Amino acid sequence: MSSSREPRHALPTAVRLPLERLDAVLFELDVVLRDAAPDVTAFPDTVELVERLRKLGLSTAVVVAHRCCREALRAGGLEELFTAVVDADATEQPEGACPEAATLLLAAGTLGVHPARAAVIDATAAGVLAARAAGFGLVIGLDRDGGVTTELGRHGADLVFTSLRAVGIDEDAARHRWWQTRQTTEASVGHAGWLLDYAGVDPYGEGIREALCTVGNGYLAARGAAPEVDAGPVHYPGTYAAGVFNRARTRVHGHVHEDESLVNLPNWLVLRWGTDQGRWVDPDEAGVSEYRQTLDLRAGVLHRRYRYVDGDGRATTVVSTILVSMAAPHLAAVHATFVPENWSGTLHVCSAIDGHVANRQVAEYAPLAGRHLHPEGQGHDDPVGLWLRVRTSQSRIDVAVAARTRVLVPDVQAEAQRQVDMTTGRPAETYAVPVREGRPVRVEKTVACYTSRDRAITEPATAARQAVAGAGSFDHLLTAHVHAWRRLWERSHVELRTNGGTPAFALNLHTYHLLTATSPHLADLDAGVGARGLHGEGYRGHIFWDEVFVHRVLVLHLPEVSRALLLYRWRRLAAARIAAAAAGRRGAMFPWQSGSDGRDETPTELFNTRNNQWMPDHSALQRHIGLAIAYSVWQYYQATGDLDFLRSYGAELMMETARFFADLAQENPATGRYEITGVMGPDEFHDAYPDTDTPGLANNAYTNVMTVWLLHRVLEVVDLLGCDDGGNLAEALRVGAAELARWRDVTTRMYVPFQGQQIISQFEGYADLREFDLPDYTVRYGNIGRLDLILAVEGDSPNRYQIGKQADVLMLLYLLSAEELRELLAGLGYRWPQQALRRTVEYYVARISHGSTLCRVVYAWVQARTDRAASWRFFTEALSADISDTQGGTTREGIHLGAMAGTLDLAERGYLGLETRQDALWLNPRLPQEMVSLHTLLTYRGHQLHLTVTQHDLTLAASPCNVQPIVVRVADRPPTTVSSGQTITVSLKPAPHSRDPRA
Ligand code: BGC
Repeated sequence: MSSSREPRHALPTAVRLPLERLDAVLFELDVVLRDAAPDVTAFPDTVELVERLRKLGLSTAVVVAHRCCREALRAGGLEELFTAVVDADATEQPEGACPEAATLLLAAGTLGVHPARAAVIDATAAGVLAARAAGFGLVIGLDRDGGVTTELGRHGADLVFTSLRAVGIDEDAARHRWWQTRQTTEASVGHAGWLLDYAGVDPYGEGIREALCTVGNGYLAARGAAPEVDAGPVHYPGTYAAGVFNRARTRVHGHVHEDESLVNLPNWLVLRWGTDQGRWVDPDEAGVSEYRQTLDLRAGVLHRRYRYVDGDGRATTVVSTILVSMAAPHLAAVHATFVPENWSGTLHVCSAIDGHVANRQVAEYAPLAGRHLHPEGQGHDDPVGLWLRVRTSQSRIDVAVAARTRVLVPDVQAEAQRQVDMTTGRPAETYAVPVREGRPVRVEKTVACYTSRDRAITEPATAARQAVAGAGSFDHLLTAHVHAWRRLWERSHVELRTNGGTPAFALNLHTYHLLTATSPHLADLDAGVGARGLHGEGYRGHIFWDEVFVHRVLVLHLPEVSRALLLYRWRRLAAARIAAAAAGRRGAMFPWQSGSDGRDETPTELFNTRNNQWMPDHSALQRHIGLAIAYSVWQYYQATGDLDFLRSYGAELMMETARFFADLAQENPATGRYEITGVMGPDEFHDAYPDTDTPGLANNAYTNVMTVWLLHRVLEVVDLLGCDDGGNLAEALRVGAAELARWRDVTTRMYVPFQGQQIISQFEGYADLREFDLPDYTVRYGNIGRLDLILAVEGDSPNRYQIGKQADVLMLLYLLSAEELRELLAGLGYRWPQQALRRTVEYYVARISHGSTLCRVVYAWVQARTDRAASWRFFTEALSADISDTQGGTTREGIHLGAMAGTLDLAERGYLGLETRQDALWLNPRLPQEMVSLHTLLTYRGHQLHLTVTQHDLTLAASPCNVQPIVVRVADRPPTTVSSGQTITVSLKPAPHSRDPRA
């Protein structure tokens, strides 16, 4: 083992500009001219670079600090060299703005490009910082004297050069720039892995784009819909706030449905425009061209750009940016730049808050009530502008949105005329803006959203108005927002390098969406994390066991969020106890689908989109949700060592769940084994035995084994916290000697079904089911993910076959190491050798339809050590689940957050063999061949650990801080103690005769 660190910003000698993701390059004047005095000379390397860029069709601009600098440019014969010369003192400087950032944004607006698709070259730390903050796609530092390289790097330069001659240009890449890309529904990705790019308008793929371009901060999120559109068959601009649910009743086919949904809140995005009064431009209409939309994952902003030519030939370029602030969770903003290319006259702009919204996204819920909001009040006051207050019909949550709109028209004397329209539930401001040809107009809409669930407020409308009144300019918001995202990325980035392909980009996309739904702002809320994030109305925003995948990532990066999500469950223990009692059981029975108050929200019927009929839904029998919650508590405790949490909340969650499952386990006198009946495992294709009317299965192996795992853990917790010493905790948790004895007994006598050759059977009798002709159905139907729906139409059911929707038995190998599983089975008296593990994996790999996005994550995981090629294939398929909408139309209703988190977990824990157990951090990397390296920052037991793993070695560097040393176990080497500030490097060449404990 040795200690070493590499500098982050090396000085490159020759680097290629990623021209495929750039449309423009902006130069600071100091980079262009040697001296701004009258007898100026230009830097020849800059002139050469600008000439080469222009030849390839890129726009260039030079940013000058004062108008007098123009003279200097002119004197040097350089004015004509650039597409545009932008004066800093022409920039409107709203209060609080960062002037450098504002000028750079103006320059991008003048050229009509997204900042995300422009590079900035600057020689000063302040300029580099401003470009970074403004969300530019590439920031280049120029250090001609070689003295400030580190400083430029520290302020956010992606690259630092000593001469622009070192900048390489790949002409091929230039030819593939975006305006030459054909219109496509597929996302194309920037090489740096940070931009999700869509070219052209695509009505069919719009729903997916909106879900994947959602911007949010854990408290609030908005789908990436255009500010110009209303909800309809193509667009769906949904906004959701974590934990804001409402119940609604509908009478369908003679019976009453009562459903709770995450509420679609007023649409704050609305910003319409037009060249004629009262006629608003629709981005889908014929005059629109060069449409491009780009989500910048690193900055958390959505850019959109297009050109519109109206019936009279007036051409206008529109560039807009949307953000939901990661720095101030109640704030959001839209910024738009309009460039009238060939006309002067009046631009019409309308900014509104639309409270006439309903939950109408999911087609199969169409017969059900979807209107959840009643208007409660609205107004308009200066300087704030508009505000609207609505109330949810049943949960009576007040939601207020306030919006301040500013129109900034440089160089035009006349003022924009404003009209206010107070239509009930839809207050609006309309502006008539005098514009001059070629002069960009900027419109900023700053929005605040509060609900009556928020703390430290008097009431939401007052809070929203105050927040908007106090908010700085858009540039100010953007700077703080980008900075907050940057800090978040530092904590959460799983930096993957591979031999080709786009896994690094997909992982970034998944991390982005995880953070959008579970940023640290969630830590202050009483809210769970929905299976579809805050990204759409699929599954009505309900909270499922998918959180187990989410926790495994959060505990290592944002443990405070994990803790909050576990507290969401803890606060609903009372409801879970009532549910257990109603089922005649002790302890706590958590619901399969959860919403506001913890009652079971699982629908009893499922709509079959293949025959438009409702069919029974028994998924509520998935009692294993409680095991997932208890498992996450233990993960949290192992990663953080937070004994206070365990003592105050975690132990109770684990014990009440254990109590329920121990009670569910009934002794079979004939066999002397405990059995659990009447449940469903994770595989939703099996909810009953064939040809029976009673739903539920006997001895689902996953449920039985995880019950035993939990009972072991709670016995450990009892020892750890001294719960059985008659003290307060023992009394509070009512743990008695008899109960402990029974728990111990179950850990030695639980029944686990096996079939031939020691294969763990999914449930008792699984092997008696018929084999399923998977190839035949695949040929006939293509995507057979929802075989349950296909077979129902054929009058059949997957209950009759050995075919799974998703991992069930194999989930055991995802949550537990092979070694742990083997030990648990051994404790029950079952011998389960290595060959049996392989046979079990092979058996289930051959009998799966991958009907859930979670499935491929688990399959990649279990094969990570046995069939690395197959594992990598499943991994890359899991990475494309949402971006390619492989579940056939579900992504538009929200991303699949569990699977997204699962891919991160796979890269991090799976391929690194990372485990947190027995008070140690275990690492046993086996990188797939395609993986060059992985770098991440882990939070473990108070430490910040920089972990870098390559094919050859592993480096773990603990940042200096005042915390207890930790125990680290790398592969089969002896345990090492790592103290803060220490770095260890371990060679990963297998030691002779080593054994992989995870295999
Ligand atoms: C899966 C479940 C999952 C749910 C929500 C279903 O299709 O079968 O395991 O919890 O989706 O994501």
